Amino acid sequence: MKDKYLLQFKKPYSYFGNELNSIHKIHNGKIKIAFIYPNLYEIGMSSLGFKILYHLMNSMPDVVAERAFAPLPDFESYLRKNNFPLFTLESHTPIKNFDLIAFSVQTCMDYTNILNILDLSHVNIHSNKREYPIVFAGGTSAYNPGSMSDFIDFFSLGEGEYQIPKIVEQFKQWDRKNKAELLQTLSEINSVYVPEIYPKNNKAKENKNINIKDIVPDLNNAPAPLKPIVPSGKTVLDKANVELFRGCTRGCRFCQAGIVYRPVREKSIKQIKYEAEEILKNTGYEELTFLSLSSSDYSHLDELIILAKELVEKYHVSIAVPSLRIDKFPVALGKMIVSQRVHTITFAIEAATKRLRNVINKTINEKDIFTTVKTASSLGFHTIKLYFIIGLPTETEEDIIAIPDLVRRIYSYAKKHKTTQKQFSIHLSINPFMPQPNTVFQWEKFGTIDDLYRKAKIIKEGLKGKQFKVNFANFKMNYIETILGRGDKNLSKVIETAWENGAKMDGWEEHFDLSLWENAFHKENINPNYYTSKIPLDRVLPWEHISCGVSKDFLKREYKKAMEGKTTDDCRNGKCEGCGLTDFFHCPALTKK
Ligand code: SF4
Repeated sequence: MKDKYLLQFKKPYSYFGNELNSIHKIHNGKIKIAFIYPNLYEIGMSSLGFKILYHLMNSMPDVVAERAFAPLPDFESYLRKNNFPLFTLESHTPIKNFDLIAFSVQTCMDYTNILNILDLSHVNIHSNKREYPIVFAGGTSAYNPGSMSDFIDFFSLGEGEYQIPKIVEQFKQWDRKNKAELLQTLSEINSVYVPEIYPKNNKAKENKNINIKDIVPDLNNAPAPLKPIVPSGKTVLDKANVELFRGCTRGCRFCQAGIVYRPVREKSIKQIKYEAEEILKNTGYEELTFLSLSSSDYSHLDELIILAKELVEKYHVSIAVPSLRIDKFPVALGKMIVSQRVHTITFAIEAATKRLRNVINKTINEKDIFTTVKTASSLGFHTIKLYFIIGLPTETEEDIIAIPDLVRRIYSYAKKHKTTQKQFSIHLSINPFMPQPNTVFQWEKFGTIDDLYRKAKIIKEGLKGKQFKVNFANFKMNYIETILGRGDKNLSKVIETAWENGAKMDGWEEHFDLSLWENAFHKENINPNYYTSKIPLDRVLPWEHISCGVSKDFLKREYKKAMEGKTTDDCRNGKCEGCGLTDFFHCPALTKK
């Protein structure tokens, strides 16, 4: 399709594909992979993982990988009206003409988008009615693949950097005649899960973990895109990104990323400097973000601050260091941020009482909170953003009332220590607790929507005045997200029916419609609340045959400690808690001890 023609649609750059550093390879004789982020261009192009794998695949001489995203409604209508198939950005080749379709799935709220994209591509949505192309999915959602198993041929578990080459290798050997043969061979890779084959495997019946994620053992030698694509239009994170480390061992008991990305693997300062300089030179970006799950925990933080200052001076860029801990906020880092005229700082406190913070293993105390508030305010920050979670296990009314109380005290303290004329303000982001697979709280229940809104009202009413801005998540969306996240094979038909009802872009408030899902559950005679209720500890979980390396025993031990209000130290500094990782991987934290 001619680029000129695409100009009639909203955000046409979502379909052009001629961005700086995009890769255009000749197709002839190569394995063709349509690499799809099942959401809008602006979301997909903000994903570092998506960029890493795009460049990795294209660095393989016998592979060509091209991108596609979920289209906006106007373009979708146009495609459907004219019966045109969805195509990739780079060569505008129909997705159905590729050998492999790879989805990067970071949230189960994109499940209906996957069906929609397959349908728009004129590819049968059902795995068992499709011979070609082969469809696979990776990303955090692959750790509980049950509810998408009717649609996806195989799931790739864990970090794709080392795994994609193994998949490509098997694909190369395949004669492209019998799909079942390919899937059988792929299933022999530990980190590949083939739903079609799983029930026939005897080990599965014995409830053994038969699939284990793949990881990059050493991030300093991992592929990183030094010439990343510079998106044409505005994206959510349109900046140069450099990863500091992967994994987190803080042990927050609600957090999925902290479990599934273990072990912690850091990049050296030398490597970070090299990547940052190369990316800045190759893209012209004026902003650089250091990414990790908890940047304050980077073990060479002082050197990182020195490096950041050097980069600011040499390249005239601004540097962002998100994901900071309120109990670890060095003055030097605060000064560096303020010197770039950034006056907003964000921290996740999660719970307002020490009792509840102990339950969730967020081991910060009020002294830490107020020390950092004083530091931030006196350095010149005039907005503090705070994250809280409601509906947490063991939560009481006292814990809810404590949120506005703590925030008001933080405000008064910050105001007392502020050094600027600017009005000080606090922005609150309130999210509900969602029990997710592979977390310590995976067995817990999701609060009812009405009760969550009632609690939200208490918080809002306790924070009157323009100095407070309170934002709540959409609890109806969180309800569906919890169901899909903890779903099993039975949910495949609900997802399909919801999509047939018109559900798509479920992660966008303006598109989300709970009634489409309620209708689908009703039609399929499935009780949605089964998936949001508390799960008995002895029930076999739908995701148990997939292992992220951390054992169920460890999660159970932690769950018991949570209920007793006991905390667990970060094993990077304290003793090894025997999380189970060493059954499969080397844990760098152990080498340090
Ligand atoms: S193996 Fe031990 S040190 Fe390593 S992440 Fe697990 S608990 Fe922590």
